Amino acid sequence: MNGPGRELELRREYAEECHSCGNCRAVCPIFAEVWTEDAAARGKLSLIRAVLDGGLDLTAIFDEKIQLCLDCKACRDACPNSVPVDRLILAARSGLVEAGRFPFLKRIILRQFLRRGRLLPPVGRTASFLQRVVLRGLPRESALRQLLPVAGIERGRVLPEFAARAFLTGAPEVAEAVGGASPGGVVTPGPADDDREAIARAARTAAFFVGCATNLLYPGTARAIVESLRRSGVAVHVPRDQGCCGTPVIEAGDFVTARAFAVQNVAALGDSRVDVVVTGCASCGLTLKKKYNELLGIDGGIGIPVFDFAEFLAHRDGSTIPADTDADEAPKVRVTYHEPCQLSRGQGIREEPRSVLGSLPWVEFVEMRDSDRCCGGGGTFSLTNYDLASAIGRRKADAIREAGVELVVTECPSCVMQLRDVVAQAGLDVAVVAVADLVAMGYGRAGVGVVAGTGPATEVLGT
Ligand code: SF4
Ligand code: SF4
Repeated sequence: MNGPGRELELRREYAEECHSCGNCRAVCPIFAEVWTEDAAARGKLSLIRAVLDGGLDLTAIFDEKIQLCLDCKACRDACPNSVPVDRLILAARSGLVEAGRFPFLKRIILRQFLRRGRLLPPVGRTASFLQRVVLRGLPRESALRQLLPVAGIERGRVLPEFAARAFLTGAPEVAEAVGGASPGGVVTPGPADDDREAIARAARTAAFFVGCATNLLYPGTARAIVESLRRSGVAVHVPRDQGCCGTPVIEAGDFVTARAFAVQNVAALGDSRVDVVVTGCASCGLTLKKKYNELLGIDGGIGIPVFDFAEFLAHRDGSTIPADTDADEAPKVRVTYHEPCQLSRGQGIREEPRSVLGSLPWVEFVEMRDSDRCCGGGGTFSLTNYDLASAIGRRKADAIREAGVELVVTECPSCVMQLRDVVAQAGLDVAVVAVADLVAMGYGRAGVGVVAGTGPATEVLGT
């Protein structure tokens, strides 16, 4: 019989704080689709307590139930006792990995490909070639599609294309600020990370943490982020030794490998000697800000204030509005915002992206219903649970349809990927882009962040 594992043992008292009220069931996007007790947090916590009490082993069934979670954190926020369900579930996954329940293919991808960042660009190039040459030419009904190892592809799933050239392959190591350095003072990084507005305003230099998905799938968004940061007055450093932040490995419960990722990134970002670190990926941001410290025990975390891209620009006092745009002439685009779980509930960032979007003269901003409801992406969740992810996504598609917009903007590459499939499956003529893509529309380089061939996006953004 296996024990619960070290991480779960350390969090035993949290699991005991659940008083079975069931509030978490009302907000769980998975429970809303499957209606079984073990889908929601209360059921998962019962199983976790049973493991902690020695009444249940780390069986395949336990594994299956614990994996069925998007880490959306809606249950944690709805819980009157503030039970950190998200951390308990990750701790349970860590126990499963310790007990040897770590599927071979997942292990190889997470430990070898992500860890050895140098392998990612050639793998991305090969995948890009296969997508262009094999998938494009393959009829939708072809039996060969059944063999392709990506969930949903046989049902016409919209997947992003790997970029022929990863962003980090061609990016400059330092991109100077447009118009010289910011007039602010030099930031002294330290543990007092509380006056974030002042830190953002004073920053002269920023390290851009790209993240694997943006690097390999959305390099245009990465370029838009660098350009926007330069125009906000900071010199942008792109540390070459940065790697995967570790989110997929943490989500899988492999905390040992994740610590190695964290150590590499702490060194790479520390070496760049910048005032702040900025990322456009909600998951990377949460991991760099909190998980290195809280979950992996890396003392002091990154040691440099970490900002989400929209959060940083919002604090730069409206410097996001491109000066070279004729605001009155620009046609307005009806835009809504989808809140990534890892940004809103993970980092408490809700208003800043809206503030950036509201500052763009070509945007007519429309709130959508349930903008903070999970889209069903959940990192790799939609790859392993496509049908369930699609069912969750259909609710989001309904909200987008009701909002009557041309564009959905978000701040997470996993959400971009999921939402592009969700709107396509729902037959909506709506484009999905990142905040930086929309900001970059005003630089005379419309659509700089939009991957060519994404349908309506090309029309809306004029690419
Ligand atoms: S994190 Fe989200 S998906 Fe997971 S149990 Fe909680 S509400 Fe459900
Ligand atoms: S809301 Fe909190 S206390 Fe209530 S059942 Fe869910 S986890 Fe337990």
